[in-house]
Amino acid sequence: MSKRLEGIGMTSRRTRMRLVDLLREKGISDERVLAAIGHVPRHIFVDEALAHRAYEDTPLPVGFGQTISQPYIVALMTQVLLERAPKWVLEVGTGTGYQTAVLSSLVQRVFTIERIEELQLRAQERLRLIGADNIRFRVGDGYEGWPAESPFDAILVTAAPPEVPPALLDQLADGGRLVLPVGGEGVQELKVIDRRGDELLTSTVDYVRFVPLLKGVRPVEDT
Ligand code: SAH
Repeated sequence: MSKRLEGIGMTSRRTRMRLVDLLREKGISDERVLAAIGHVPRHIFVDEALAHRAYEDTPLPVGFGQTISQPYIVALMTQVLLERAPKWVLEVGTGTGYQTAVLSSLVQRVFTIERIEELQLRAQERLRLIGADNIRFRVGDGYEGWPAESPFDAILVTAAPPEVPPALLDQLADGGRLVLPVGGEGVQELKVIDRRGDELLTSTVDYVRFVPLLKGVRPVEDT
């Protein structure tokens, strides 16, 4: 058994439940989401040097200038998404795979796209380790979505584009919901867009800070 795997059970249930209680206090009310946050081991999604901070409600650096999202934001976006009872979900911005793990435990199938191959590979390894087996991975540009697997009941974007990517709207099923931050660097609006036939209904649920959604795939380093 690898050191990493042995480490999975090492955070006390109490530590994780403190985070769950905090999210409840902050207004997360969907018990399914709270249960998912309570059982996904966030410490394996961060560097070992930061593992002791994994159950704080804060984003943490994960390399490549990226961050693992704040648990409250993961919970909020997931809660808003579940209101539409989605089965097939597209996630743009796999990052560490933490949000992917939470989604994977709550919906039938998750399709996840990441532009940095090294991050995607690490995420795959961690998700395999925790037994998440309903996920398909793709290294690609999330601006384009995943046309071959569309339409999706829900789409969640964990990096901020300046405008809503049109391909993602096209790939949203009738009755489907897109949840994404929109705006420039700094503070963005967390938007919820519902498709009803040709009509799109948009609302803003919060203000958030995400890394930018960048165009294109990052070339793999030669080193
Ligand atoms: N949900 C992640 C947070 C990831 S941060 C987690 O909890 O760990 C945002 C991620 O989006 C980064 O990994 C970044 O590389 C990725 N990203 C940025 N632009 C992208 C694009 N156009 N397509 C796919 N992924 C993108």
